[in-house]
Amino acid sequence: MSIPSKHVEILIIGAGLAGLSAASTLVSQGREVLVLDKGRGVGGRLAGRQIDGANFDHGAQFMTARNPRFIAQVERWVATGVATEWYRSHSGQPTSHARWRGVPNMREIAKQLAANIDIILACRVETLYESGGLWCVETDDARTIEAQEVLLTAPVPQSLALLNSGNIALTVAQRKRLQQIDYDACIAVMALLDGPSHMPPPGALVPDHPDINWISDNQQKGISALPAITLHAAADFSARHFDAPRDQVGEQLINMAHPWVGARVKHFQVHGWRYSKPKQVDIEPCMVVKAQPTLVLAGDAFAGPRVEGAVLSGWAAADQFL
Ligand SMILES: Cc1cc2nc3c(=O)[nH]c(=O)nc-3n(C[C@H](O)[C@H](O)[C@H](O)COP(=O)(O)OP(=O)(O)OC[C@H]3O[C@@H](n4cnc5c(N)ncnc54)[C@H](O)[C@@H]3O)c2cc1C
Repeated sequence: MSIPSKHVEILIIGAGLAGLSAASTLVSQGREVLVLDKGRGVGGRLAGRQIDGANFDHGAQFMTARNPRFIAQVERWVATGVATEWYRSHSGQPTSHARWRGVPNMREIAKQLAANIDIILACRVETLYESGGLWCVETDDARTIEAQEVLLTAPVPQSLALLNSGNIALTVAQRKRLQQIDYDACIAVMALLDGPSHMPPPGALVPDHPDINWISDNQQKGISALPAITLHAAADFSARHFDAPRDQVGEQLINMAHPWVGARVKHFQVHGWRYSKPKQVDIEPCMVVKAQPTLVLAGDAFAGPRVEGAVLSGWAAADQFL
């Protein structure tokens, strides 16, 4: 067994909205927290990219808020300038609840939550096991970290793989609950245009097309100075084409979206989300796998397949440690 390079009170795996919401609550209560994420930036599925000066949100497109505590949180984000209302209805849809976006982009919300938190990025947890009443993780950059308590916020199949890696016991009921959660895949295309798109205001559209779920115009959205669209393929299309050459799939989707894209595509990139949104949501807002030493699972699969669900799950998990 390798020598621990670090010992922490609470280790959180995943710097998405669930992990960061839990971390910021715990830090505000004086707890010592370390967050690890395999990504190069924080935010997880709250992701943005810059291509040749154009800006794209290519994961979550907006937030909605229904829970009173989350509504209050969104209001704080608006007050501090990291969120703003994008729209209440798009073409063909009656006016309804507000869709909130991040300022300058969705990832900024995660960045603000991460501001006072100790985070190690580009660090993938490869195994998690219990040893001498503590949790130990080993990472792909050769760290071994010991923790008194652990919160796992990766998509459920990835969390399950980590639990299996350390032979962590689950009850039959827990294993069944976790195994039945699976996710839609989503292929996202980010296309830089040579002129404005043909999308009607507000630049958000659920097109009447079997293979395309969503198109947004990042310029109309207010996050890109240059004309730039994000396109999300439908779940079935994404599953069927997930392992196909990305350039080919991207071109196919752009051609299908031509009536809305309108302008010439100067350049595009494709990102595949294998775990885009959970198809099932668990019965509890987080799962306590073990009480002592504490091991909790959280994420959008526990409190709703959206940004709000991830935050609510993170808060519920934090309560388990407090
Ligand atoms: C294409 C797309 C469109 C969406 N649109 C919307 C929308 O418009 N509105 C909305 O509300 N929601 C939307 N969602 C859903 C929303 O993004 C998610 O519900 C939410 O961001 C999930 O947050 P999370 O913290 O639970 O998980 P994640 O954001 O996935 O965070 C988990 C983190 O764990 C890290 N991780 C995983 N395994 C390891 C490991 N072994 N070691 C270290 N780190 C690890 C990952 O890198 C990741 O950062 C969308 C999602 C996608 C993909």
